[in-house]
Amino acid sequence: MSSLSPESTAFRQAIAVINTVDPRIGAAIAAELTDQRESLKLIASENYASPAVLLAMGNWFSDKYAEGTIGRRFYAGCRNVDTVESVAAEHARELFGAPHAYVQPHSGIDANLVAYWAILADRVEAPALAKAQARQVNDLSPADWAQLRQDLGNQRMLGMSLDAGGHLTHGFRPNISGKMFDQRSYGTDPETGLIDYDALRETAREFKPLIIVGGYSAYPRKVNFRVMREIADEVGATFLVDMAHFAGLVAGKVFTGDFDPVPHAHIVTTTTHKSLRGPRGGMVLCQPELADQVDRGCPMVLGGPLPHIMAAKAIALAEARRPDFAGYAQQVVANSQALAEALMRRGATLVTGGTDNHLSVIDVNSYGLTGRQAEQALLDSGIVTNRNSVPRDPNGAWYTSGVRIGTPALTSRGLGTAEMDEIAELIHTVLSHTRADSGSKAKYTLDGSLAERVAKQATELLAGFPLYPTIDLG
Ligand code: PLP
Repeated sequence: MSSLSPESTAFRQAIAVINTVDPRIGAAIAAELTDQRESLKLIASENYASPAVLLAMGNWFSDKYAEGTIGRRFYAGCRNVDTVESVAAEHARELFGAPHAYVQPHSGIDANLVAYWAILADRVEAPALAKAQARQVNDLSPADWAQLRQDLGNQRMLGMSLDAGGHLTHGFRPNISGKMFDQRSYGTDPETGLIDYDALRETAREFKPLIIVGGYSAYPRKVNFRVMREIADEVGATFLVDMAHFAGLVAGKVFTGDFDPVPHAHIVTTTTHKSLRGPRGGMVLCQPELADQVDRGCPMVLGGPLPHIMAAKAIALAEARRPDFAGYAQQVVANSQALAEALMRRGATLVTGGTDNHLSVIDVNSYGLTGRQAEQALLDSGIVTNRNSVPRDPNGAWYTSGVRIGTPALTSRGLGTAEMDEIAELIHTVLSHTRADSGSKAKYTLDGSLAERVAKQATELLAGFPLYPTIDLG
């Protein structure tokens, strides 16, 4: 009689307990595992967290309120939360070589908000308090308070443009960061597609931002953070890097020297669930001079910390400190480059003509499609991607002209460069057989039997690389 793995037992029992309350939820949890096992996940921002990370999230830590920071809480009874938060922060500091780590942010957006307000507090609020000889904002006169509020709302930010791969939280109007800051963007060189550091320097000199933001969600190349810090220093800006997408490549020492943001930026934000392979969440790393302001994140902009998620962050960060994580990170990039090259060999056009990180952006204009049509046709064929703008995109941010693909998730399943060639063939087959319906940016025609054949091939390919092989839900 074969015995069940501890993971199988744990998840089977958890679902059995959930089913006693509402079996629809237990069934959905089980069905999600099947769906994830069977789909070819190329979404660059997704991954598969380990069973230990998943289990660390599902427990009574979820019940605990713990506003404040380690050892300084607004609630009693937080000694176990203190343990979890300090272990997670210690792993983060060690992993990234950062002087300070704040592991409370609930997401990447929250981490950026914490960082922006820490910088505003440091650069705008603290000098105003000092000038008024006030210890804290409650001590300011009504006139000084009104002036400070105006000054806080009147600051400038320079971030990467959305179509070049920047993120909404880097000062764009639909996000709160765009309503808080007067934002200007830097883009990429029209010829090479690479960040034009000279143009960035010119814009910074003229615009004089309080904050320069580095980092991206759809730029397929390395970024020279040493040069960006020099530019920030020249214009007196605080340099923030949002490494949400590539934190795993920094942790795995693929990005080192000029390309590692941690030694160069004043403050670094990240998510924990993308290439870092942890639970959904965020984190802020910073230099000592910003630590106190960063630690005020809750209750400044964050709701109470999520101790169960911090427990899972601690596990994920500990996993990323193991030697095999560097091998994983290297394989993510090797796979990404193999996929990019295999696509280009078949005639696809890629933004910047390739990649040196975990993602590529296919310019699907070359297939006569919008991003929306390509994304949906691929989905019909069992391949999960997401549409994305390309630089100077003629189709705007909704339809777009690109499809972003990334390898962190498939690499976690164990797929290698040989499989990337097969995947490139599937993607190219679908895109080259999809026809845009005349006059439509959304509708298209794709032979159903071709889509079915590709989906079957994708499932067969994945069958050789079982997801969560130690978990059998029966
Ligand atoms: N920053 C960057 C660069 C991102 O790519 C993302 C998510 O896509 C975020 C921040 C926001 O992360 P979250 O969805 O966890 O709020």
